Amino acid sequence: MSDFLTADIDRADALIDLSNVVLERSLGGSGAADLLRLERVGRALSALYGSSETRMYGVADESLIRRNLYADVRQFRALRRWRAERVIHVAPDADPVLLELADQTGLPIITGDRFRNHRDDFPWLDGSDDAVLEPRAGAGGGVSLSHVVVHPVLDWEVSRAEESDLLKQKGVRARQGLLTRIWGCPEPRCPWHDPLRTGLMFVPRWYRDRLYCDLHDLDVVDLGPRPRAAQVKVISNGAEVARFPVRAGERVKVGRSPGGFVLTPWLSAATRLKVSREHLALELAGDRLVFTDSSRNGTTVVNAEGIRRKVHRTSAPFGYKSRLEVVPGLELIRSGRRYPSELQIDRAVATAAEPPPEATVSY
Ligand SMILES: [Zn+2]
Repeated sequence: MSDFLTADIDRADALIDLSNVVLERSLGGSGAADLLRLERVGRALSALYGSSETRMYGVADESLIRRNLYADVRQFRALRRWRAERVIHVAPDADPVLLELADQTGLPIITGDRFRNHRDDFPWLDGSDDAVLEPRAGAGGGVSLSHVVVHPVLDWEVSRAEESDLLKQKGVRARQGLLTRIWGCPEPRCPWHDPLRTGLMFVPRWYRDRLYCDLHDLDVVDLGPRPRAAQVKVISNGAEVARFPVRAGERVKVGRSPGGFVLTPWLSAATRLKVSREHLALELAGDRLVFTDSSRNGTTVVNAEGIRRKVHRTSAPFGYKSRLEVVPGLELIRSGRRYPSELQIDRAVATAAEPPPEATVSY
């Protein structure tokens, strides 16, 4: 049942507020807490993103791991095992952890919560239309995910929410740049904080200004800046078929030639002729992902509004909301993770006046 979860935040397509989802009775299942709700939300995310490969980075309140919440003791044991194996991120209060990670990655949070008492710390939430994906029960037991607008809250609502939130913790904000540094555990054989060996982006736990490895209860050490990387997904006829990273200082060629990322497995006899051996190349220029077309037929950029533009033998930015169409039916898109500069631009133009994107699916 953990097929939808990942401990690697770089691999994640969304963050999930596990306590909110697993305790939400309207999502089906039985009893106060049921992991079936997590599975249903995972499937809804796959349907929303048109991919069977979607993964969620799960954050849970400590209070979710209590035996008496579960009708089926195996679910309680599974959660305890996920905590021990670091499949999920457990914190005294999950809200600030989720918001800090959303702040630094731009990933949406799957939750029914609106974080009313955290607006002062995370002002970009007010009016945001892409920060929260809300699970909703549909007819016939299906679950769908919809983007919702996070409306600004009035002062009296904030004070009431703060009063009613007994879990509110002070001093849980992480240091700036949590995900821009490599953190290591001082224990030499620690499996979780040796990024050079595991290759995954593991987020240290934090609480009251302390960043630590919760396996060894040791403060993590800063091993230096983390090289930037962007994740690119390959979409064939609407379904994700592969992913590859573009790291800082690297130029990734894409086309039919070996030595770069090879698209041949997803080309038919007809489309094969339209893809050049070195069709395009991707690289990170500062905080932006840029592509350079070097093909015979060009590459079509489709922006968030669906406007198409042909790029031929020149360079152009590859924004996180746009798609690069190599040939009809074969596209490259960015993963959900964004960079701080992109987020700043995004948040500056966000307005509550615009309707939310209607991205509703059922299964
Ligand atoms: Zn450790």
